Amino acid sequence: MFSERFRSHHDAEAGLEAMLGKPKGHLGRLLKMKSWADVEKKLRDGPGAQERSLPRGIYIHVPYCDKICSFCNLNRKERGRADLDAYAAYIAGELKAFGEYPYVREQPFNSVYFGGGTPTVLSVDGFALILRALGDHIPLAAGCEISVETTQHNLGVQKALALSELGVNRFSVGIQTFSDRGRNVLGRTFNGEKSLEALRELRAAFTGVLGIDIIYSYPDQSIEEITRDAEICIESEIDSVSFYSLMIHKGSALAQSIENKETEFTRNIEWDRERHHLFYQKLTKAGFSLLELSKLARPGRDAYRYIHVQYENGDLIPIGSGAGGRLAGFRIFSMAPGHRFVSPINKQYERYYRMLGELQFGLYDPKKMAEGLPPGTEKAILEKIKELEGRGFLIPAAQGSARTLTPDGIFWGNNIAVEVLGAAINPAKKEKTVYV
Ligand code: SF4
Repeated sequence: MFSERFRSHHDAEAGLEAMLGKPKGHLGRLLKMKSWADVEKKLRDGPGAQERSLPRGIYIHVPYCDKICSFCNLNRKERGRADLDAYAAYIAGELKAFGEYPYVREQPFNSVYFGGGTPTVLSVDGFALILRALGDHIPLAAGCEISVETTQHNLGVQKALALSELGVNRFSVGIQTFSDRGRNVLGRTFNGEKSLEALRELRAAFTGVLGIDIIYSYPDQSIEEITRDAEICIESEIDSVSFYSLMIHKGSALAQSIENKETEFTRNIEWDRERHHLFYQKLTKAGFSLLELSKLARPGRDAYRYIHVQYENGDLIPIGSGAGGRLAGFRIFSMAPGHRFVSPINKQYERYYRMLGELQFGLYDPKKMAEGLPPGTEKAILEKIKELEGRGFLIPAAQGSARTLTPDGIFWGNNIAVEVLGAAINPAKKEKTVYV
């Protein structure tokens, strides 16, 4: 195994950036800032042939929550007295403004994703305003996925049905665990029973795609607790589940509590792995399959187009305060009305970011990975793949020369992706990975 587990795609991205010798994250992007006028010029020119082939989506960020969870470090704040109707009007105005550019108008979008924060802090009227603006100003493909992240306490059945009437066809519900003790540690509202009851009601009423989030490996999580969470996912007829190992983010209330010794939290890789495998194996036995490293879905029940736009480096228009995206060859971070950070996408590095994204789906095809890269790259990737196969992380796929991930491979999926990227970036490097 590896000495440290990359628990998320962001960890792997940091690993990739280190290999490419880039300054990390926002700093790296800020160093190469461009002005909005550069983006506007491209948006007025319209998409080129290559850009027309990209998947397209819109990301709408709502940075407010009713209550802040103990583990969370996302871009959000407590809603307090925020004027949410004014925020919905701002989003609608942004959609109208983007819809005026030929680059946006000339190609349909097949995914709209409301993330946060908790988008469902907005009222039904707020959603109606935004979704009307979408319909009026943005070309949406037939059957466009319109997905909304939510918590349970501000999405009752009535509101869910009202949003469904307005066009929302996918909900992603942050539940995290059905254990009362776990919910308390994670700072969630509702107890486990109420959470389960709310999920059952929503499933019975809402016919669209229903996914939930589950966190495993929280402090003192017992085998019984993770087993029960898995069993509820199976019984409750949800379409998909994202399952994450708890990350302790610096500055979060939970990190603080651990530091102050109010919460005891020691875990090792074996403990984490046991919970991961138990959850994964129970769900796959019940018919779920891997959609991406941290997501399982019932076959054909969740296309999750948004993640394809993200991982396949598609055009993703960022709307709202704190939204990040990429459009017309630029990375864009939207700060507040009228304020955006913009940096050009580095074409040389783009290939590797895309590879990292594609590897999130768990298929390792050396031929495809080496396309467009210098001679010798395919051989280096293949050697690395064989090494990982020997370690029990990969097995041959049903067809061709590709490999798929074993349960251990999924657990270590982001580490493995970085290993293979290392071989692709530096095919002449002979140094072997040190496993512990
Ligand atoms: S986990 Fe979700 S609901 Fe909780 S504070 Fe973070 S964004 Fe808000």
